[in-house]
Amino acid sequence: MKIYADNAATTKMSEKAIEAMMPFWRDIYGNPSSPYEMGQKAKAALEDARRRAAAVLNCEAREIYFTSGGSEADNQAIISAARLGVKNGKKHIISTTFEHHAVLHTLDKLKGEGFEIELLDVHSNGVVTGDEVANAIREDTALVTVMYANNEIGTLQPIREIGAVCREKNVLFHTDAVQAIGHVSVDVDRDNIDMLSLSAHKFHGPKGVGILYARKGINLFNIIEGGGQERGKRAGTENLPGIVGMVTALEDAAKGIEEYRNKLLPLRDKLIAGLDRIPFSELNGDREKRLPGTVNFCFEGIEGESLFVLLDGKGISASSGSACTSGSLEPSHVLLAIGRTPQSARGSLRLSLSDDVTEEEIDYLILSVEEAVRQLRNV
Ligand SMILES: *Cc1c(COP(=O)(O)O)cnc(C)c1O
Repeated sequence: MKIYADNAATTKMSEKAIEAMMPFWRDIYGNPSSPYEMGQKAKAALEDARRRAAAVLNCEAREIYFTSGGSEADNQAIISAARLGVKNGKKHIISTTFEHHAVLHTLDKLKGEGFEIELLDVHSNGVVTGDEVANAIREDTALVTVMYANNEIGTLQPIREIGAVCREKNVLFHTDAVQAIGHVSVDVDRDNIDMLSLSAHKFHGPKGVGILYARKGINLFNIIEGGGQERGKRAGTENLPGIVGMVTALEDAAKGIEEYRNKLLPLRDKLIAGLDRIPFSELNGDREKRLPGTVNFCFEGIEGESLFVLLDGKGISASSGSACTSGSLEPSHVLLAIGRTPQSARGSLRLSLSDDVTEEEIDYLILSVEEAVRQLRNV
């Protein structure tokens, strides 16, 4: 049996998204900035994609900026808020200890420029609260950035509540929603979000394309300088095939979100229950407040790296958590943030499902992990 259980790292593209992209390589390959017919057709498709994305997120088309992915959107959102903060004498930024490195490394850079970065501790269940954010906000807070769902352990944050706190205190609020979009319902208006990052390849769209949503009135700072694309805020010829593929996958995911949840929740919980039965195993993150497809466990006394090798041999693609840090022997910063010891954190396994997973595959996953853990503990 072959099971791809690393959908939090990236996903298989949907056939529909692939089909939607083809004409923009083969026929309508004009530059959206060109004045003649083929360019204008491309431009029309680009603006149509922008309107469709805005409809899914519940915002205006002019609040959508196409980027090269989640990392770029995170960088631009945070740096923009920092530059705006400086203008208003605000140099304090609030985030959490378990953000993605696209956020944490950008904050590190700002720290080097004299910003005060306050990273809130995450509870052992992998959640921060609105109250904690409220208590940390000061007169000189330029930005709060808290991820919608964690990429390693899958926990969901109370984003609507955090957004409400920020709005009440008049502080900009950004969320890295890369793991959430297409997996849970997200609405920038309902959730009180000022800026949001998403990435197509995490919901069956193409790699190398994403969106930064920025509420109107927020003056973005350019990360990439050049032509006047994206309302002058993001230079570079638009990746039109990618953008069309992304929006197709985005609409599909949004339309099927209830069905997705109803199908995956029982399978996810069966997987959790099965892995729970392995001796000296512990689920990472809250049992309920989590994505429908992401499960992360620590198994005492084993090395995660050896576990993936054994699982790979059984046809299972899985990881310790973050694709960016796997291969290094550093324990995951996310697992340390929720209070795991470095030793325990090294024995972690993330299984992230897609909604084409079957019950037989869940049984096979449980059995394979059980076997592999037993085998590793015996040596
Ligand atoms: C994957 C991921 C990113 C990076 O997105 P890219 O499009 O790969 O740059 C950022 N944040 C989170 C939470 C992610 O899971």
